[in-house]
Amino acid sequence: MWSKEIFKQMYLSSHGDTTFSTFTSARLIKNNLEESGFVYELDKGFSNKRHMLKGKALSTNVKEVSKKKIAVIGSGIAGSTLAYKLAQRGHRIDVYEQNDELCSGVSGNGVLITYPRLSAFDSPYARFCLHSFLFASSFYDSLNSNAWYKSGVFLMNHDDSSLKRQNSLLDARPSNDLFEELSCEEASKRAGLKLNNGGIFFKKGGYLEAKALCQDLLSHKNINLILSSRVEKIEADGKNLTLVSEGEISEYEEVCLCAGYASENLLNFPGLSSKRGQISYVDSSKDFEKLNFPICASGYFSPRVKGSHVLGSSYSEVTNDIVLEDEHTSNKEKLKAIHDFKVNIVDGNVGFRAVTKDRLPLIGINKGIYVNTGHGSRGSTSSPLCAEIIADLIDGRPLPADHEVVIALDANRFN
Ligand SMILES: Cc1cc2nc3c(=O)[nH]c(=O)nc-3n(C[C@H](O)[C@H](O)[C@H](O)COP(=O)(O)OP(=O)(O)OC[C@H]3O[C@@H](n4cnc5c(N)ncnc54)[C@H](O)[C@@H]3O)c2cc1C
Repeated sequence: MWSKEIFKQMYLSSHGDTTFSTFTSARLIKNNLEESGFVYELDKGFSNKRHMLKGKALSTNVKEVSKKKIAVIGSGIAGSTLAYKLAQRGHRIDVYEQNDELCSGVSGNGVLITYPRLSAFDSPYARFCLHSFLFASSFYDSLNSNAWYKSGVFLMNHDDSSLKRQNSLLDARPSNDLFEELSCEEASKRAGLKLNNGGIFFKKGGYLEAKALCQDLLSHKNINLILSSRVEKIEADGKNLTLVSEGEISEYEEVCLCAGYASENLLNFPGLSSKRGQISYVDSSKDFEKLNFPICASGYFSPRVKGSHVLGSSYSEVTNDIVLEDEHTSNKEKLKAIHDFKVNIVDGNVGFRAVTKDRLPLIGINKGIYVNTGHGSRGSTSSPLCAEIIADLIDGRPLPADHEVVIALDANRFN
C-alpha cells in the first residue's frame, strides 16, 4: 500500500488543486511523497498519533495537455460525442462524413432509446453496461438539448426468461435509485397506455433524436464538419498520421475511427460484423398518442416523435437496405407482447449495426489509430463513456473505467 508505485499513480491522477492527508508520518511515506511530486507538512495527529501529514500535488509538475489537431471519421453518435468531448478540451477537430448529411449512418435511423443491459452479476461487461448508462444519461442532461427526452424507459418482462432475469436483478439490488419494479397496472397508469405486463422502470433512461443531437454536438466552435468526404486511407509513419479523402491528403496528430461497421474498410477488425435492422414508423392514433415513455420488450415502441411512433426492430441476415414487408410483420409480432392495439405502419428504415461477438464495443488504439466502433444495438448508451475513455487516452489522463473494463473493451481483443 505504501509503495512508490502507488504514490506515482496518485500523482498521475492528481491536478493542481489535489490535496491529501494521511494518519501516517513515517519517513518512508515522506520520502515517497517527495519523490512522486507532492509537498507535505506535519500537522497535529489524532488518537494515539502525535503527527499526521497533509499536503498537495505540485501543480508546476502537472503535465499540461497539448492541444492537438485531430481527425474524427464518422458523424454518428459515436463520432459526434467524441468530437464534442475533444473539442471541449481545446483540441481542434475535423469531422469527416462520407455522406452529404451529418449522422446519416445507422444513428440517423429513427429515435435511439437509451437504457442499459443490466446483469445481477459483477463482471466487466455488467460494470460497463451500468456505468455507461449512468454516464450517458448525465452527459445528455448536461447538453440542455431539445433532442434528448429524459422520459424514463420501461423494460417489460414479457416472457419466462425476461421475468427470471428481472427477478434476479431485483434480488441483487433490492433497493436502489437505478430502477423501480412496476406492476402491469402501475406501469400502464404511468405510460398512459394499457400494457400487457409489468417490469422495471429506469427513470434516468430516455430517447434521442440522434440527428438533431449530433447537430448540436458538432456545432462546437472547435469542430469543423467536412461533409461529402469519404476517407479512403489512413497512413501512419510513426509520428504523424496522414489521411486521404477525395484525393486530398491531410496530416493530423491523432485520428479517431468512428465509422460504424464501415470502419473495417480502413482497418482490419476480425471480431466486427454488420447486422441489419429495420424499424417501422407507425401512424399515431388516439389509442397510444399519449404514450409517455418508450416500452422495451423483445421489440420496442416509442412515444410520438414528429407525428409517428417508432416500432423496432428486426435483427436479420439480409444484406441489402430495402425496407421489407416481412420485417414490418416481425416488428408487429414483437409489439404483441407490449400491448394489443392495431397499428398502421406508414414507412420504415433500414440500418446496419456494427456488432461484436461479446456485445461490447471496440475501444482503444490499433496501429496508432484510436478506434471507437462496435456499438451494436446500444450506441446511444455506450458512446458517451467510450468517448470519454478515448479523450483520456489521447490526453494521457487516468481513465474513467476500471482496468478490467478497459481490457474487456480493447479494440484488439479479437486479433
Ligand atoms: C433498427 C435499429 C434500431 C436501433 N435502435 C437503437 C436504440 O433504440 N438505442 C440505441 O442506443 N441504439 C440503437 N441502435 C443501434 C445504434 O443505431 C448504433 O449503436 C449507433 O447508431 C452506432 O453509432 P456509430 O456512430 O458507431 O455508427 P453510425 O451511426 O453508422 O456512424 C458512422 C458514420 O461514419 C460514416 N462513415 C463511414 N465510413 C466512412 C468513411 N470512410 N469516411 C467518412 N465517413 C464514413 C457513415 O456515413 C456514418 O455517418 C439501433 C440500430 C438499428 C439498426
